[in-house]
Amino acid sequence: MVRFQKVRKSYGALTVLDDLDLDVAAGEMVSIIGPSGSGKTTVLRMLMTLETINEGVIYVDGKPLTHMPKGGTLVPANERHLRSRRADIGMCFQHFNLFPHMTALENCMEGPVHVLGLSKAEARDRSEELLELVGMISKKDQHPSRLSGGQQQRVAIARALAMRPKVMLFDEVTSALDPEVIGEVTNVIRQLVSEHQLTMLMVTHQMGFARDISDRVCFFYGGKIEEQGTPAEIFGDPQRERTQQFLSAVR
Ligand code: ATP
Repeated sequence: MVRFQKVRKSYGALTVLDDLDLDVAAGEMVSIIGPSGSGKTTVLRMLMTLETINEGVIYVDGKPLTHMPKGGTLVPANERHLRSRRADIGMCFQHFNLFPHMTALENCMEGPVHVLGLSKAEARDRSEELLELVGMISKKDQHPSRLSGGQQQRVAIARALAMRPKVMLFDEVTSALDPEVIGEVTNVIRQLVSEHQLTMLMVTHQMGFARDISDRVCFFYGGKIEEQGTPAEIFGDPQRERTQQFLSAVR
């Protein structure tokens, strides 16, 4: 569903992704862990097409995302191509970025109505179903300022899902939350993993959470995958010294 093929991303002299190859199968939940600055968030930003890559190609659902076919070869995608593909990717950030002047329900309806062209009635039905899924239906008419951080994050998850993305990205979705509300957000993600066959990529510093819910864990170091495997392999029996050092430092 997602393929990074020899992707390189640099900022000036700093190489942030270094010939990265990464495949995520349809329905797979992959967690990205690693030290600060190892390129974890950059992987998600490249998928959101927030920035261009220097080399390589990213594919989503078998079709190039960063490029488009022209005269038998691939050329860098233009803005029109990127716009047409962005709805394939849903993202939740550390900071929820809800529209402050809209209610929870209006936040969820905005994309389906204005980007996908759904009728308001269709968008409302879809949004209410998702607010129910994340346990926020009783707060659908509240504005974000009246909701706790955990509640806002759950609305943000519903809002991203309302676009019916092919791939969901979660970037440190619990790190801005108070400890007592982290569980309500991780439980929603857990539920998505167990009940919905969504393809998901998650960057997290919560090792226990990554271990519990991932099909595969990728340990990043210096813009590359240093080691990857099942949670049991990575957390129970890491093979590489850098992985061992990182895990012993964070546990
Ligand atoms: P953290 O765990 O601290 O969030 P990370 O592994 O997610 O780290 P990235 O955010 O992917 O790391 O950043 C990788 C490197 O790229 C860092 O050294 C960062 O300073 C650098 N970087 C990211 N964005 C930019 C930018 N716009 N301009 C210059 N350097 C950048």
